[in-house]
This record gives sequence, structure tokens and C-alpha cells, in this order.
Amino acid sequence: MTATAISLRGLSKHYDQVRAVDDLDLDIADGEFFSMLGPSGSGKTTVLRLIAGFEVPTAGTILLGEDDVTTRPPFARDVNTVFQDYAIFPHMSVLENVEYGLRVKKVGRSERRKRAEEALATVRLEAYAARRPHQLSGGQRQRVALARALVNRPKVLLLDEPLGALDLKLRREMQIELKQIQREVGITFVFVTHDQEEALTMSDRVAVFNEGRIEQLAAPVDLYERPASAFVAGFVGTFNLFQGEAARAVVGEAGSFVIRPEKVRLDAEAPTDVTGLCIAPGVVREVVYLGSTTSTVVALDAGPTVTVSHPNTDTSIDAALERRDQRVVLTWRRDHLVPLASSETAALPEEETA
Ligand code: ADP
Ligand code: MG
Repeated sequence: MTATAISLRGLSKHYDQVRAVDDLDLDIADGEFFSMLGPSGSGKTTVLRLIAGFEVPTAGTILLGEDDVTTRPPFARDVNTVFQDYAIFPHMSVLENVEYGLRVKKVGRSERRKRAEEALATVRLEAYAARRPHQLSGGQRQRVALARALVNRPKVLLLDEPLGALDLKLRREMQIELKQIQREVGITFVFVTHDQEEALTMSDRVAVFNEGRIEQLAAPVDLYERPASAFVAGFVGTFNLFQGEAARAVVGEAGSFVIRPEKVRLDAEAPTDVTGLCIAPGVVREVVYLGSTTSTVVALDAGPTVTVSHPNTDTSIDAALERRDQRVVLTWRRDHLVPLASSETAALPEEETA
């Protein structure tokens, strides 16, 4: 059985009328790469600040391992935080920056040096020890910030959108590296991001936040393949939603259903064997070339518009563009449909019951 690194029980933080964090229960396992994903203002940073001790909860408790730390000051909690705007000291060398936390803790000179060099090696910056921060790239400065947090060997590392300031290419490289580093050091990472791809790339589990609450908590694959609500389906990837009359016409059942764009086939005619398939004829409205994939928007005879996405493995874009305004048939496997049971979608009025 895995030990628990962090337990949040009934945790709330209110600012006047705003429920930034609303009665949260959450367990994060030892050594886990855990992400909190959600739109701006959904309460992610507030949860991190509560765990770090920078905020006092309105209600609830915070356990680190077995210890109730709810009322402890930040320095008495075995956690470290890495922010997006990494606060590294410009007048110190890289090595001095990394050593700084240990100097404050009165760790001896040779021990300090050894541990700082180890931390720099972990973030692949051993060759940069003597440099000043202004001689580093953005990605390298972020690694210094990471080394500074790791050098204290905390049980838990909190990371608040640490890659947010980097350009896309560098961010993707750092995502892979962060995951490798986390595996090497074995420290529990709690990672905050509003970028779904980032969360899916790195995490063991992801909590999707919406208005101070967790909408769904799952492994990346399940979050994408089995979204629990329209909010999650829309936040993690793109999706097609059928509900009300459209669900009855296209799926043949009442309810709300999601199908992902890459699960839908597009052909000129219906297949002969339709066992286990949904069939939906329509007209191509738009063809969008996206480099590695092409998106095709189809207005179904049954009403709704469906987006289909396919890799450009052996399609020519000219052939795809010629489909505009043509009649097509969409098919997908019934077992690829995801039924939604969230209160949010269930609460949408249905024509017949209205
Ligand atoms: P996220 O990190 O997901 O963008 P935050 O945790 O920063 O969200 O904010 C959650 C909500 O709490 C927002 O509505 C925000 O405006 C509010 N909030 C956060 N910090 C404060 C504060 N110090 N005072 C008042 N409201 C705050
Ligand atoms: Mg934030």
C-alpha cells in the first residue's frame, strides 16, 4: 500500500463571497506526480498556497503524511514551492543561488556545496554553476529555481504553472524533463496548470478544477476517454456533444453523449456492415488543414454539427478540400460514445420534459 503524502479534508477558503476553495477532500500519494488542472480562477493556486501555509483555511484540515499542519507556519512544513516568476537572486551565481536555502538552515560549507552540486546535476546544469542568472536562458533560470527547491529535499514539491513563461517548444522539452526529474528524485510533485496537454503529458493523476471544486479526478487516459461531465470533456481536448433530440436521433437513446473527433470515420457512403456502429449522414461545411491533422466540420441531417479530426497520413489536402459542401456519412463505434452523468448536463432542459 502506498503511503499518503497529502490529505485535504473539508478544505475551504473563502474571500468574502468568493469560494476560492469549496469543501475539498483529496489524497495525494507518496511519490505521485499529481496535477491540478482548471481554468483561471478555479482555485488551483489557492489550494497550493493552503498546502504551503501561505494562506489560512476558512475550514478544514491539511495533513502532510501523518502530521496535521493546518496551523503551522510555512517554514515548519516539509514542502517547497516553485512559482512561474522564479525568484532567483541576480547578484548571486547559480551555485550560490542553489546553496542559499541551506545557508539559511546553517548547513556546513562542504555539505552545502556537495548538495547544491547534486541538485544542479539533477536539473542538468552542472556546467553552469559559476554563471550569473542574467547569463542564462528562461528555461535554465527555471531549472535553477527547481534546483533551489530540490536542494532542501522536501517531501513535497509544489509547482504553480512553472513553465507558463516559456515558449511552446521549450515548454514541451521541460515537460518531459520535469517528469524524468520527478522519477529520479522520487519526491511528490503537485503541479498546477491550465494547459490540458501539459497535465496529460506528465501526471500520474489529474484533478480537474471548476469553481473551487474537483470536477473529476482520474488518470490522464481516463480523463480523456471517460470524461465525467461536459465541462471535463470540453476542457480536456475537443469533443462533440449529443443531447436531447439530437441524442435520440443520432445515438438512438435519450441522454447526453460525447464522441471525440478522432473516433469518427468520414466516408462517401455508409458501410455495408453497420453492426455496433452509429451512422449519421450530413454535409461537409468546413475543412481545416492543421499540418499533422485535418479537421472537417459536418452538419448532420439530424441537426447538430460534428467535428471530425484525422491524421494526414496519406490524405492529400486537395482531396480533403474538395469535400466541402459534399454529402458524407459519419460512422463511429457505439462503444466509443461516452455517456455523461454530470448534474451540469443533466440539468439542461430537455425539449419533452420542459
Ligand atoms: P487559479 O489559480 O485557479 O487561477 P486562484 O486560486 O488564484 O485560481 O483564485 C480562485 C478565486 O479566488 C478567484 O476568484 C480569485 O479571484 C479569488 N482569490 C484568490 N486570492 C484572493 C485574495 N487574496 N483575495 C480575494 N480573492 C482571491
Ligand atoms: Mg493560479
